[in-house]
Amino acid sequence: MSSSEFPSFLSPRLSPQTDSDNADDASVLKPSPINLDRSLPPTIISPSFTPDTVPSTPVPIPVISTPQPSDGLPDILPEVECVVRARIPTTSGTEIFLHLYKNNMDDKEHLAIVFGNKIRSKSLDRTREGETEMDRMIRGAYVGRLYPGRQTSREDQTNAEEDTAKDTATLVRIHSECYTGETAWSARCDCGEQLDEAARLMSKENEGIVVYLRQEGRGIGLGEKLKAYNLQDLGADTVTANILLRHPADARSYSLATAILLDLDQTEIRLLTNNPDKIAAVEGKHREIKVRERVPMVPIAWRMNSGGIRSKEVEGYLKTKVRTACL
Ligand SMILES: [Zn+2]
Repeated sequence: MSSSEFPSFLSPRLSPQTDSDNADDASVLKPSPINLDRSLPPTIISPSFTPDTVPSTPVPIPVISTPQPSDGLPDILPEVECVVRARIPTTSGTEIFLHLYKNNMDDKEHLAIVFGNKIRSKSLDRTREGETEMDRMIRGAYVGRLYPGRQTSREDQTNAEEDTAKDTATLVRIHSECYTGETAWSARCDCGEQLDEAARLMSKENEGIVVYLRQEGRGIGLGEKLKAYNLQDLGADTVTANILLRHPADARSYSLATAILLDLDQTEIRLLTNNPDKIAAVEGKHREIKVRERVPMVPIAWRMNSGGIRSKEVEGYLKTKVRTACL
């Protein structure tokens, strides 16, 4: 992929550094006549840091005391099972493992988009009665990589990976599906940008989980969301529009996300969100998961002079989000 295809907020690629200023000094100090910089292709010469005015990495906020969980949290988490997992090479070059879940609460196909190949699903790896090695590989319960002719799911002779100890909690984003913002290029909200930003940060760490919940339009569904858009064009904001349609301002629930994260063996995480209330919701009523840090996501349009989603609709949407802490 060429650098021009990356979003505008990525570090600019600079032309290779020249050392002409210090050429004379260097020739005195270094006996070797080989100039290493010049022999390297420009692509592997480090670009300069992104200027301070354009933060490319958000500053994490340690979570010292978790806000009190709201009364609405369920006592028992839903049961989830990873049905299938598959490797997805992406257009940015990063590989992800898509985990598809079923659960005992609804019929939707909730997903975990897993960056890196160290994180595993307990329910996927569990042995199922009567299944063959081929069955296991087809549903994605294999170690390492698949290749033509592979016979066993259990070991990967081609690429034995070392289990290195982890020193940081996994970066996690709980993302609710937004067809309009992610697929239909909508500038009414910044969901697409937030998903891209989460993917960018997780690609950088080569580890992370986006729990992708199929709760379109704050849980009201696409049809009702489109009606709400019409109400917004008639002058209502996001929250008022939902209330006018007799939906709760925010019908989203995160207990499925908590259950999915536990299935992925995550008990300590760093949560990518602007909403401190999401911390208690994701941790669960009995604090099944601990959020170590909250990593905020500032809209690109707010921190850069160009790029990001700019529309009068998204301005109103973000203002409402800030006011109601619904990010
Ligand atoms: Zn959206």
